[in-house]
Amino acid sequence: MKKYTHAWLAMMAMKRIETAKIPARQQDDAKALITWFKNYRDFVLSGAWYPDSVFKDMSTSHIVKYEPDTSAPEGTTVSFRVMPPTLQLYQYGLKSDMYGKPFLLNKRHNICDRCESFTESLIDSFKILTMENDGSPIVPSNNHIAMRFFILSHYIADAHMPLHCDARSFYNDNEVHGFIEDVWDQQVRSSYYIDEDNERFFYDPQGYPLKQETFSELMQYVEDELRKRQFIWSWGAGCGNTWDYMSGISQYSYLMAYRLVPADHAPSEISKALYMESEAFKEHFFEYSKVILADAVESIAKVWLHAWVRYRDWFRGTELAYFKDQLKKADKNLKDANKTIDDYPEKKDKQAAKVKTAKETADAKQADYDAAVAKGGKTEKKAESLASAQAKLAEAQEKLDAIEAAYKEAEASLENLKALRLAAKIEVDRKQAEIKRYADSNSGI
Ligand SMILES: [Zn+2]
Repeated sequence: MKKYTHAWLAMMAMKRIETAKIPARQQDDAKALITWFKNYRDFVLSGAWYPDSVFKDMSTSHIVKYEPDTSAPEGTTVSFRVMPPTLQLYQYGLKSDMYGKPFLLNKRHNICDRCESFTESLIDSFKILTMENDGSPIVPSNNHIAMRFFILSHYIADAHMPLHCDARSFYNDNEVHGFIEDVWDQQVRSSYYIDEDNERFFYDPQGYPLKQETFSELMQYVEDELRKRQFIWSWGAGCGNTWDYMSGISQYSYLMAYRLVPADHAPSEISKALYMESEAFKEHFFEYSKVILADAVESIAKVWLHAWVRYRDWFRGTELAYFKDQLKKADKNLKDANKTIDDYPEKKDKQAAKVKTAKETADAKQADYDAAVAKGGKTEKKAESLASAQAKLAEAQEKLDAIEAAYKEAEASLENLKALRLAAKIEVDRKQAEIKRYADSNSGI
């Protein structure tokens, strides 16, 4: 697909997340994603075009090419993925003659892996952004992450262009493919106001591409569809993640390729002129374009929202773990203080007895020493013994003082520690209740 088509699809995906009826479980998150997105939408044109303008990985990562396996024994069937029923590519695919028939895949092509890895790296980037302190040299910026959302949208959109999933090589290589994409891009460019100098759309009051008076029917269909179509959260019965889902998209995109450009001529003969004369173009191009572009919007919105919700679930879990840790610490502090208070009478008596004994010993040594001095005999050993007894007395007294100080401190801080513990408990309960709201059976990602 071309530059403005890519940017427009990404903007329409944003609009879909904002205007579709999102299931209750993901509603708050969807709102938060849109609020976040709107700060960075100006990068949509450059971001969604980055794979073509800079990465230039078209020959491997923008495609996954299928072809019918003509060597398979007659009657062989293969299973295609089960997708959400609202996907029109899927509905058309189910009616295709080629549905269930064996196919061959070029293993060098990795658009599904690209989508999966971008999804994971988005979530990782948010985690790093959350955990790193402000100003950390390794922290990714929100701008950077938004760019990657738009880059991801490019690969998702490309998988919906049937000829990206079709191994046939048409006349003059890319002629028909380029023509179809030009038609779409022209419709985008003539339907919305574009700020060419700043490489972005002009926006309407809601923050979406501003429509021109000459608004194309195809664009109108997609705009209507993104509000009307039921938003299905699940990937589809046969899919568990971005990779599976994109793999399914590519299968049905391959089937759509044979409607968009039927195999009634040898591929090498199908030029742009021949294609434009075909019934497929004259009768069905608009119909197929609706399916392809509306589904591309749907898939971008779905993959984005899934990535975002996974990050938000992680964030909520991390917050809960933090509050639980705080509660554990507050619990321990309170227990320690209570133990100090409970143990005090016994500990104090024991230590006071030790002080008493040490005092008696020191007094006896003193008397011993005084007697030796009075006699005028040798006093060094007596003096040493006296000093040692006095040191022991001082040490015992110090311990007793410490026991008393600890008791007083525990007494004084007890109310405060109780309040802190209660506050920590309230935080944990609040967080747990909040998370419970998100943890229904509908949350399978
Ligand atoms: Zn591309």
